[in-house]
Amino acid sequence: MYTDLKGKVAVITGGSKGIGTAIAERLGSEKMHVIINYRSDEDGADEAVELVEQAGGKAVAVQSDVSTEEGIECLIKAAVKHFGTIDAWINNAGMENQHPTHQLALEDWQQVLDVNLTGVFIGSKAALAYFIKEDKPGVILTISSVHEQIPWPTFAHYTASKFGVKGFTQAIAMEYASRNIRVNSIGPGAIETPINAEKFEDDQQRAETEQMIPMKRIGDPKEVAAAAAWLLSNEASYVTGVTLFVDGGMTLYPAFQDGKG
Ligand code: NAD
Repeated sequence: MYTDLKGKVAVITGGSKGIGTAIAERLGSEKMHVIINYRSDEDGADEAVELVEQAGGKAVAVQSDVSTEEGIECLIKAAVKHFGTIDAWINNAGMENQHPTHQLALEDWQQVLDVNLTGVFIGSKAALAYFIKEDKPGVILTISSVHEQIPWPTFAHYTASKFGVKGFTQAIAMEYASRNIRVNSIGPGAIETPINAEKFEDDQQRAETEQMIPMKRIGDPKEVAAAAAWLLSNEASYVTGVTLFVDGGMTLYPAFQDGKG
């Protein structure tokens, strides 16, 4: 528990499943008030609200598309209306799809960039503008990926979006540090969520992925949520501009793990 988080208000994008729901639930156990954004999965969002409330927090689900300025504005308004302020903004919504790059449609490229990078820009911009208008400190946290560091063939658009998130996070962390606004990312490795459920249901693909992880297991969304709570809390009060990888060692060049090379 991080007692300073009690009663603080967070907005989380894409919170109706996976890592977003796990973070929301963890923030509930920190007694926070959470706006849970969802795009289309209303049932998932309602379940996430219940989880937050069972854990001891308060939550409201809000439908909107975070790749649009109207969608982001709607979340700011909802947070102020329901909980009176915003203390933390969490860019979690993301998507991926696989295509050889010479066959990648411009439409697919744009959709992934719109959600994973432009959504992070407009969400962060709105949160920054809010913190500055209210003259208050704030925290922005983006769920990036190990693929802000590891290139991922056939997911070139996803890779480009997450490398972009890394640069954007570092730039705004520096730009707003003197205003006491901290900006960080988490870089999950392979985490058990709906985004990769199909892949991990296949034993062979699961084993192949586990081989790429020094800790030899897929991560749990709760392990990402634990890192998120720490980065939001005052325990991380001097931490800005970093990516905290939560990846079982995946970014440590696992091809070298047996002393080869
Ligand atoms: P998920 O598919 O379970 O959840 C992603 C959520 O984002 C979904 O609820 C989806 O509806 C939402 N979303 C997508 N586009 C949206 C939009 N325009 N507006 C609002 N919501 C939108 O996936 P997840 O694994 O929980 O992923 C969460 C984040 O973690 C993503 O940014 C993803 O890139 C990142 N990540 C996940 C993994 C992993 O292994 N699961 C690894 C690295 C990074």
